[in-house]
Amino acid sequence: MMEYAKNTLIALFLSLGLIACDQPGEAPTPIDPGPDNPADPDPTDPEPIDPNPDPQPDPVPEEEYLDDEEGRIFSYVPVGDLLPNSGPGHQDTTIYRPDIMFPLEEAAFLNSQVYRHGGYQGSVNGMNGGQCHSSNYEYPWQDTFCESRSRSQIMCPNGGHEGVDIRPATCIPQSGAEHWAIAVEDGRIIAPASSRYTVRLQTEDGTLYRYLHLKMDALAVSDGEYVTKGQRIGRVSNDFFNSSGDPVPTTYHLHFEMYQNYAPDAETDPVFDQVNPYMTLVSAYERKLRTP
Ligand SMILES: [Zn+2]
Repeated sequence: MMEYAKNTLIALFLSLGLIACDQPGEAPTPIDPGPDNPADPDPTDPEPIDPNPDPQPDPVPEEEYLDDEEGRIFSYVPVGDLLPNSGPGHQDTTIYRPDIMFPLEEAAFLNSQVYRHGGYQGSVNGMNGGQCHSSNYEYPWQDTFCESRSRSQIMCPNGGHEGVDIRPATCIPQSGAEHWAIAVEDGRIIAPASSRYTVRLQTEDGTLYRYLHLKMDALAVSDGEYVTKGQRIGRVSNDFFNSSGDPVPTTYHLHFEMYQNYAPDAETDPVFDQVNPYMTLVSAYERKLRTP
């Protein structure tokens, strides 16, 4: 019964997702043909018997039922569709880098660190309780790019969060587990001591990734080091500072940012443009789940 309910919810979710992606307007209301529609089978009629029944139901396309190492079926809320009362979002379905590795080694959960359980605005949606609330560690994923913040930024001019937040496989304060962030591509690490809670990874063509809130005193890489795709960078943690420069921990998560280089050639200095990495991460995670 639980399994049936879950699959029904996922099917409902997927159909809602399609509507949100492909039909920005209101979906037309289907016309009820009424009880006299001749196409309606008479409920008193017996079920017709199929003379050649299939031995098995049709196989389900693999991509609709990808599951993680715990057997949980992956699903995600469409890009730009944020939690209620948490900001406008930024709809961008582009998969900017179709071959990157997902930035965490294990299962992961993209969702809000601020407007869910354990976040300082969780109460606006009735999500009280601590960051280890079990629903913070469940699918579906939800986008957090341009989630409301007090600071204005280029992509989110009315104040917003120019990145996405990723919880690791387990809630670290509860589990005590180590969860590793890895290089999404080959590149060079930029992590001078001055970048107190940020590790950058830059590829040869100038694409830049920023990993925030790793355990900075125990990084697996050093400033200037060249790393290969999949190499461990550091452990997911909660390192952060307030605007006065004092250490103030955040929730345990990886804040991940991506900047495309739009320079026309390698001789021109990189022209950085921050992009919403959500669908790039969905694509990377689906590849990860398909790989045994
Ligand atoms: Zn963040």
